[in-house]
Amino acid sequence: MRGDLRQALEADNLFARKSLGQHFLLDLNLTAKIARLAGIQPGDTILEVGPGPGGLTHALLASPAARVIAVEKDPRFVAHLRSFFADEADRLIVREADALALDEVTLLAELGIKQPVRLISNLPYNVGTPLLVKWLKAGSWRGPMCLMFQTEVAERICARPGSPHYGRLAVLAAARCDARLALHVPRLAFVPPPKVESAIVVLEDHGKPFEDLPGLEHVTAHAFGQRRKMLRASLKGLGDAEALLADAGIDPTARPETISPEGFFALARAWRARA
Ligand code: SAM
Repeated sequence: MRGDLRQALEADNLFARKSLGQHFLLDLNLTAKIARLAGIQPGDTILEVGPGPGGLTHALLASPAARVIAVEKDPRFVAHLRSFFADEADRLIVREADALALDEVTLLAELGIKQPVRLISNLPYNVGTPLLVKWLKAGSWRGPMCLMFQTEVAERICARPGSPHYGRLAVLAAARCDARLALHVPRLAFVPPPKVESAIVVLEDHGKPFEDLPGLEHVTAHAFGQRRKMLRASLKGLGDAEALLADAGIDPTARPETISPEGFFALARAWRARA
């Protein structure tokens, strides 16, 4: 029989480590709600990064998913998860690894998993953005994503042109996915509470991917690096800025926050063509 999660943590003295961005969700009603937002389908494989004590893992295992792969950097929680969820050993695969360095393709091949994997995670704040960028660039192994970020990052991912939050992250996300802010989660829902508020973002592939994400990262770094400048000035580092903007059909006096993601895709194409 599986015991109570809080009691298990206290019994094993599993306190939160700040250095690993550890803020835990121990309210199983909330984790069940997050699992519902993720739209899990029977037979799905889920990849959860940073399961920690396993509050969200509990909800994922209660879903119709075929299996959950949990990747955790903290060895204390790797041991805890294996023992706490021993009754689910055939559906829960726990790996000790740094998710930033993880080669998901090799891991999934080792496990014999061929279908796209659903990513559902309450991410550590310090690595949330690099992990999202890594997964946006991923190949066909990656399925839909349901991820927790600090609210400010969640707003940047989902922002539309004209919004003060609109920038590189929204453009990169739009290259592959439709992103929506699905749920605000107050700081007091976490143990211990972080300093900032959090939100769940759901990202689903829209099926018309813009493939050159490195090119897009490059041009948006220039464009948004000097947000207040007109693009003809901020893009000087890319070469003949006026010619690039003409190729992409963009007004050279425009500022970056007014340009749609499609405008930046055109700019990245134009830059590649002249590079
Ligand atoms: N999912 C758990 C929950 O909701 O209670 C824990 C969330 S906590 C915000 C982030 C978790 O990610 C911690 O367990 C931490 O040890 C783990 N973590 C931090 N950096 C990591 C990394 N680079 N790779 C894998 N796990 C990491």
